[in-house]
Amino acid sequence: MRRLEVLAVVSEAYPLIKTGGLADVAGALPGALRAERIHVRTLLPGYPRVMQALRRATCVHVFPDHFGVPARLLQARVQGLDLFVLDAPGLYDRPGGPYVTPEGRNWDDNARRFAALGSAGALLGLGLLEGYQPDVVHAHDWQAGLAPAYLEYAGGRRPATVMTVHNLAFQGQFDRQLLGSLGLPDHAFSPDGVEYYGDIGFLKAGLRLADRITTVSPTYAAEICTPEHGMGLDGLLRGRSDRLIGILNGIDTDVWNPAQDDLISASFSAGDLRGRSANKRALQQELGLTVSAQAPLFGVVSRLSWQKGLDLLPAAARVILAAGGQLAILGAGDADLEAAFTSLSEGAPGSVACVLGYDEGLAHRIQAGSDALVVPSRFEPCGLTQLCALRYGAVPVAARVGGLNDTIIDASPAALAAGCATGVLHEPASVPMLEHGLRRTLALMARPDQWARIQANGMAMDVSWRGPAREYARLYREIVTEPGRPAAKG
Ligand code: ADP
Repeated sequence: MRRLEVLAVVSEAYPLIKTGGLADVAGALPGALRAERIHVRTLLPGYPRVMQALRRATCVHVFPDHFGVPARLLQARVQGLDLFVLDAPGLYDRPGGPYVTPEGRNWDDNARRFAALGSAGALLGLGLLEGYQPDVVHAHDWQAGLAPAYLEYAGGRRPATVMTVHNLAFQGQFDRQLLGSLGLPDHAFSPDGVEYYGDIGFLKAGLRLADRITTVSPTYAAEICTPEHGMGLDGLLRGRSDRLIGILNGIDTDVWNPAQDDLISASFSAGDLRGRSANKRALQQELGLTVSAQAPLFGVVSRLSWQKGLDLLPAAARVILAAGGQLAILGAGDADLEAAFTSLSEGAPGSVACVLGYDEGLAHRIQAGSDALVVPSRFEPCGLTQLCALRYGAVPVAARVGGLNDTIIDASPAALAAGCATGVLHEPASVPMLEHGLRRTLALMARPDQWARIQANGMAMDVSWRGPAREYARLYREIVTEPGRPAAKG
C-alpha cells in the first residue's frame, strides 16, 4: 500500500487551539491515520497561542505580501502533529478568540484572514515547496472552504480535495465586493463557484468545488440534504449527494479511559463497575447533592445553546425530581440558559446542581458518576459527549438526530430482547418527548439487570478513532486514483 500525503487545512487543532469538536478531530485524526500509511501535515493560522507552542520551527517560505501583509510559512512538529503554520502577525497576532474580538464580535476582516489560510493551503497543494506534494488537500469547515476554490481556479493539475463539514450552522458568508481582494477571478462568482445568495460563501465554495464532501455522521449527511436541516445548502448537497459521505468522529480513548483516569475518584472498567458507585458518591459530595446511591443521577456536559435543546430540560426536569432523581449540569453559553439552570438549582437544592463554565475535570467526574447523560440536541452533527458517556458507563438519553442516532442503540423492546441496547433515544425538540425519554430511562433503571446490560453494551463499543481513520483512508485512496488526479509517486 502506497503511503499518501494529506494536507489538512484547518483553523484549530487540539491541543494547540480549540473552540469546539473541530479541534478534537484535527488533533486526533493525523495520529490515527498513521496506521493506515497516511501522513498528514496540518496547516494552521499563527494565532498567538499557536506561535507560543512552536519550538524549533523552520521558516520554509516567505510571502512578502500575502493578502496585504507580510507572512511566513513555518514548519514544526508539536505534540505529535506535523504542522505548517501561517505566521502572519497582521492577520492573526491579536487578542480574543480565533474568530472574535475580546468582546466576542467577529473580526471585521475574517474573510481576508481565512482566505489567506485557504490560499496558503492551495499554494502548498500546488507544489509551493520543493519536495512536498500532497496527494490530497483536506479542508475543514468554512475557514478552509476557499482552499478547494483556489485550487480549482488555478487551472491545471491539482491534488484531490475533500471538504468536511463539522457544523453546517457556520458558513462564512461575506460581501461580494470582496471578490477581487480575495484573489478570486470574476468568473468564480457564479452558482457553480463561490456565489452564495448574492454573497461569497466560503463553505459553499468548498462544498461545490471539492472532489468529495464528508460530514461527521451518516445520519447528519442525510439530514443536511433536507430543507429542515440544510440551512440553505440542502439543494447543493442533494445535487452532490453521490459525493457526500458521513464518517463518525471518535474520541481519544487514552484521555477518556475510566480504568486510568486521574481526574476521577475511583477507576473502573466494563468488567468491573464497582468503582462507579464511589464516583457517584464523590460527585454528589462535590456538587452539594444529597448523597444517595439510589437516587437516579442524570448528568449534562454541554455548550448551553439552542442547538443542544437544553432549553427543554428545566421543564422536563420535573420528571426526574418527581422520581427522587438528581441532575448535575456542567455547561457554559447562552445567558438565558445559564440563568434558567441556576434558578432550577436554587429551587431544588440537594437535587439539582449547576456549574457554569468549562471544566475538563468535572466533565470526567460527571461522566464517571452519573447514571445517565442527557443530550436532547435539536441537531447534532456527531456529538462527542455521548461517546464519552458510553465509554464511562453513563447511559446516554438523547434526541434521535445526527450522530446521536448513529452511535446509540435505543432500548426498544426489540433491542432489549436482542440484548444490544446502549441508551434511550427520543424524538427531538419538545418537552413532552424529552419527558417521555426520561420516564423510559427511569423505568429501565428500575430493573438493575437490564440497566447493567445497557451500561455494559455501551462500554463495549469501540468509540476510538481506529474505525473512522480507516474510512478516511479508504476515501483518500479512492479519490487519488480517480482520472485527472496526480499520478501515483510510487
Ligand atoms: P460541540 O457542538 O460543542 O462541539 P460535542 O459534543 O461534539 O459538542 O463536543 C463538545 C465536547 O466538549 C464534549 O466532549 C463535551 O463533553 C465537552 N464539553 C462541552 N461543554 C463542556 C464544559 N462546560 N466543560 C467541559 N467539557 C465540556
